[in-house]
Amino acid sequence: MVDNIKVSGTLIESYLICKRQAWFHLHKIIPFQDHPFLEIGRLIDETTYERDLKRINLESVQIDFIKTKEGEIVVGEIKKSSKSKDIAKMQLLYYLKVLKDLGVPSKGILSFPTERRREFVELTTEDEEKLKRIVKEIENLSNESFPPPLEKIPFCKNCAYKEFCFS
Ligand code: SF4
Repeated sequence: MVDNIKVSGTLIESYLICKRQAWFHLHKIIPFQDHPFLEIGRLIDETTYERDLKRINLESVQIDFIKTKEGEIVVGEIKKSSKSKDIAKMQLLYYLKVLKDLGVPSKGILSFPTERRREFVELTTEDEEKLKRIVKEIENLSNESFPPPLEKIPFCKNCAYKEFCFS
């Protein structure tokens, strides 16, 4: 059981990718820090949108950038690839929900700089219901003493926890 879990955007992403990976996060099991995908992520963090990027820590979420556009607040999430776009979208929608609950309605931009693509995202009532269910499931997972059984999925290939699962 994990006390006082704070559901972050990263945890939402992790849960949607692999519940076992989310369990590792919840139990503060740290992946190997020299994994090449972590390095690539760090590199993108350091070189993309150098002038725009303002990493903002708000409650339990870390937002890549916030800006105003035509009088509206726009929240940005930067990803290295659009392959898992639906998962990245839920992560961004979670940020919009956290901001909404703080009284700051906003819209989102999903950005894939290496593919020169962006997508606009808006929070709907249906999204809010879905996020509520996901948060509840993550809370339940935090109470589990053991990780969910290993299930090989395409994400395993680039997962920083690969050594935990397959050695
Ligand atoms: S290696 Fe695969 S099963 Fe293990 S945590 Fe990563 S994605 Fe999940």
